[in-house]
Amino acid sequence: MNKLFLDFDCTIADSVKTYCNVYNSYYKERKGFKVADHSKVKRYDLKDQCHLVDHQETIFSSKEFFKHLEFMPHAKEVIERLGCKYELVICSIGTLDNISYKSQWIKNNLPFIKNVVLVSTAVEAASIKMDKSSVNMKDSIFIDDHVENLLSSNAELKICFGKEFEWNKNWMGHRCFNWKEVENLLL
Ligand SMILES: [Mg+2]
Repeated sequence: MNKLFLDFDCTIADSVKTYCNVYNSYYKERKGFKVADHSKVKRYDLKDQCHLVDHQETIFSSKEFFKHLEFMPHAKEVIERLGCKYELVICSIGTLDNISYKSQWIKNNLPFIKNVVLVSTAVEAASIKMDKSSVNMKDSIFIDDHVENLLSSNAELKICFGKEFEWNKNWMGHRCFNWKEVENLLL
Protein backbone atom coordinates (compact mmCIF):
# COMPACT_ATOMS: atom_id res chain seq x y z
CA MET A 1 0.00 0.00 0.00
CA ASN A 2 1.77 3.11 -1.14
CA LYS A 3 -1.18 5.37 -1.80
CA LEU A 4 -2.55 7.39 1.10
CA PHE A 5 -5.89 9.24 0.94
CA LEU A 6 -6.29 12.07 3.44
CA ASP A 7 -9.48 13.77 4.49
CA PHE A 8 -9.25 17.54 4.87
CA ASP A 9 -11.65 18.90 7.53
CA CYS A 10 -10.89 17.75 11.08
CA THR A 11 -8.02 15.62 9.77
CA ILE A 12 -5.50 17.92 8.07
CA ALA A 13 -7.12 21.16 9.19
CA ASP A 14 -8.60 22.02 12.57
CA SER A 15 -11.97 23.00 11.14
CA VAL A 16 -13.86 22.83 14.45
CA LYS A 17 -11.46 25.19 16.21
CA THR A 18 -11.32 27.60 13.27
CA TYR A 19 -15.11 27.58 12.90
CA CYS A 20 -15.51 28.53 16.57
CA ASN A 21 -12.83 31.23 16.30
CA VAL A 22 -14.53 32.78 13.27
CA TYR A 23 -17.90 32.57 15.03
CA ASN A 24 -16.50 34.27 18.12
CA SER A 25 -15.12 37.18 16.17
CA TYR A 26 -18.00 37.71 13.71
CA TYR A 27 -21.04 36.98 15.88
CA LYS A 28 -19.97 38.62 19.14
CA GLU A 29 -22.20 41.68 18.68
CA ARG A 30 -25.31 39.60 18.00
CA LYS A 31 -28.10 39.30 20.53
CA GLY A 32 -27.86 36.05 22.51
CA PHE A 33 -24.17 35.51 21.72
CA LYS A 34 -22.18 33.21 23.98
CA VAL A 35 -18.48 32.49 23.41
CA ALA A 36 -18.08 29.17 21.57
CA ASP A 37 -15.66 26.68 23.12
CA HIS A 38 -14.23 24.42 20.40
CA SER A 39 -13.23 21.79 22.97
CA LYS A 40 -16.91 21.31 23.86
CA VAL A 41 -18.27 20.79 20.33
CA LYS A 42 -20.14 17.50 19.97
CA ARG A 43 -22.47 18.04 17.01
CA TYR A 44 -21.39 17.83 13.38
CA ASP A 45 -23.23 21.07 12.55
CA LEU A 46 -21.56 22.80 15.57
CA LYS A 47 -24.94 24.21 16.67
CA ASP A 48 -24.24 23.17 20.24
CA GLN A 49 -21.55 25.89 20.51
CA CYS A 50 -22.39 28.22 17.61
CA HIS A 51 -26.17 28.39 17.81
CA LEU A 52 -26.56 31.79 16.09
CA VAL A 53 -25.41 30.44 12.72
CA ASP A 54 -28.43 29.68 10.49
CA HIS A 55 -26.54 27.27 8.29
CA GLN A 56 -23.02 26.01 8.86
CA GLU A 57 -22.00 26.80 5.27
CA THR A 58 -22.30 30.51 6.18
CA ILE A 59 -18.94 29.93 7.88
CA PHE A 60 -17.58 26.77 6.19
CA SER A 61 -17.95 28.26 2.71
CA SER A 62 -16.65 31.71 3.59
CA LYS A 63 -13.38 33.36 2.66
CA GLU A 64 -12.90 34.31 6.33
CA PHE A 65 -12.90 30.67 7.40
CA PHE A 66 -10.04 29.82 5.04
CA LYS A 67 -8.18 33.00 5.94
CA HIS A 68 -8.03 31.81 9.56
CA LEU A 69 -7.87 28.06 8.96
CA GLU A 70 -5.24 26.30 11.08
CA PHE A 71 -3.53 22.94 10.69
CA MET A 72 -4.13 20.18 13.22
CA PRO A 73 -1.09 20.03 15.54
CA HIS A 74 1.94 18.50 13.73
CA ALA A 75 -0.15 17.82 10.59
CA LYS A 76 2.03 19.73 8.15
CA GLU A 77 5.37 18.25 9.21
CA VAL A 78 4.06 14.66 9.43
CA ILE A 79 2.26 14.92 6.07
CA GLU A 80 5.47 16.21 4.52
CA ARG A 81 7.35 13.17 5.86
CA LEU A 82 4.57 10.82 4.73
CA GLY A 83 4.95 12.31 1.27
CA CYS A 84 8.44 10.78 1.03
CA LYS A 85 7.00 7.26 1.44
CA TYR A 86 3.45 7.46 0.09
CA GLU A 87 1.64 8.97 -2.85
CA LEU A 88 -0.66 11.45 -1.11
CA VAL A 89 -4.18 12.28 -2.26
CA ILE A 90 -6.43 14.74 -0.44
CA CYS A 91 -10.10 13.80 -0.68
CA SER A 92 -12.78 16.20 0.51
CA ILE A 93 -16.41 17.17 -0.05
CA GLY A 94 -17.90 20.68 0.06
CA THR A 95 -20.00 23.34 -1.60
CA LEU A 96 -18.58 24.97 -4.72
CA ASP A 97 -17.40 27.96 -2.67
CA ASN A 98 -15.92 25.70 0.01
CA ILE A 99 -13.93 23.55 -2.41
CA SER A 100 -12.74 26.50 -4.42
CA TYR A 101 -11.31 28.24 -1.31
CA LYS A 102 -10.07 24.85 -0.11
CA SER A 103 -8.09 24.15 -3.27
CA GLN A 104 -6.41 27.55 -2.93
CA TRP A 105 -5.59 26.85 0.73
CA ILE A 106 -4.07 23.47 -0.20
CA LYS A 107 -2.00 25.06 -2.95
CA ASN A 108 -0.68 27.72 -0.56
CA ASN A 109 -0.15 25.55 2.53
CA LEU A 110 0.63 22.08 1.16
CA PRO A 111 2.30 22.90 -2.16
CA PHE A 112 3.95 19.46 -2.37
CA ILE A 113 0.54 17.75 -2.67
CA LYS A 114 -0.48 17.56 -6.30
CA ASN A 115 -3.28 15.01 -6.15
CA VAL A 116 -6.58 16.34 -4.84
CA VAL A 117 -10.11 14.97 -5.26
CA LEU A 118 -12.71 17.60 -4.36
CA VAL A 119 -16.33 16.51 -4.60
CA SER A 120 -19.11 19.08 -4.79
CA THR A 121 -22.13 18.67 -2.52
CA ALA A 122 -24.18 20.35 -5.27
CA VAL A 123 -24.12 17.06 -7.14
CA GLU A 124 -26.27 15.52 -4.42
CA ALA A 125 -29.06 17.94 -5.29
CA ALA A 126 -29.17 16.27 -8.70
CA SER A 127 -29.82 12.96 -6.87
CA ILE A 128 -26.47 11.54 -7.86
CA LYS A 129 -24.76 10.05 -4.86
CA MET A 130 -21.32 11.64 -4.73
CA ASP A 131 -19.71 10.70 -1.46
CA LYS A 132 -16.20 9.41 -1.01
CA SER A 133 -17.27 5.90 -2.04
CA SER A 134 -17.09 7.21 -5.61
CA VAL A 135 -13.31 7.42 -5.21
CA ASN A 136 -11.53 4.14 -5.79
CA MET A 137 -9.21 3.60 -2.81
CA LYS A 138 -8.46 -0.05 -3.54
CA ASP A 139 -5.13 -1.20 -2.03
CA SER A 140 -4.76 2.18 -0.31
CA ILE A 141 -4.78 3.70 3.15
CA PHE A 142 -7.53 6.19 4.06
CA ILE A 143 -7.53 8.58 7.03
CA ASP A 144 -10.78 10.40 7.86
CA ASP A 145 -12.57 11.58 10.99
CA HIS A 146 -16.07 10.65 9.78
CA VAL A 147 -17.24 7.08 10.30
CA GLU A 148 -19.58 7.17 7.26
CA ASN A 149 -16.73 8.02 4.92
CA LEU A 150 -14.62 5.23 6.36
CA LEU A 151 -17.40 2.65 6.19
CA SER A 152 -18.36 3.42 2.58
CA SER A 153 -14.77 3.40 1.31
CA ASN A 154 -13.08 0.40 -0.31
CA ALA A 155 -9.67 1.33 1.18
CA GLU A 156 -7.51 -1.52 2.42
CA LEU A 157 -6.55 0.17 5.70
CA LYS A 158 -8.97 2.67 7.23
CA ILE A 159 -7.88 4.91 10.07
CA CYS A 160 -10.25 7.10 12.08
CA PHE A 161 -8.53 10.38 12.93
CA GLY A 162 -8.72 12.64 15.92
CA LYS A 163 -10.62 12.90 19.14
CA GLU A 164 -13.98 11.29 19.68
CA PHE A 165 -17.01 13.14 18.34
CA GLU A 166 -20.64 12.23 17.80
CA TRP A 167 -19.82 11.39 14.16
CA ASN A 168 -17.11 8.84 14.89
CA LYS A 169 -17.66 7.52 18.40
CA ASN A 170 -18.95 4.17 17.11
CA TRP A 171 -15.86 3.41 15.00
CA MET A 172 -14.39 0.07 16.02
CA GLY A 173 -11.35 -0.07 13.72
CA HIS A 174 -7.91 1.57 13.76
CA ARG A 175 -7.77 4.94 15.43
CA CYS A 176 -5.11 7.66 15.59
CA PHE A 177 -5.86 10.50 17.97
CA ASN A 178 -3.25 12.85 16.51
CA TRP A 179 -0.63 13.17 13.78
CA LYS A 180 2.17 11.82 15.97
CA GLU A 181 0.21 8.57 16.23
CA VAL A 182 -0.21 8.54 12.44
CA GLU A 183 3.53 8.97 12.09
CA ASN A 184 4.22 6.08 14.47
CA LEU A 185 1.80 3.84 12.62
CA LEU A 186 2.76 4.61 9.03
CA LEU A 187 6.42 5.63 9.14
MG1 LIG B 1 -13.41 15.36 7.96
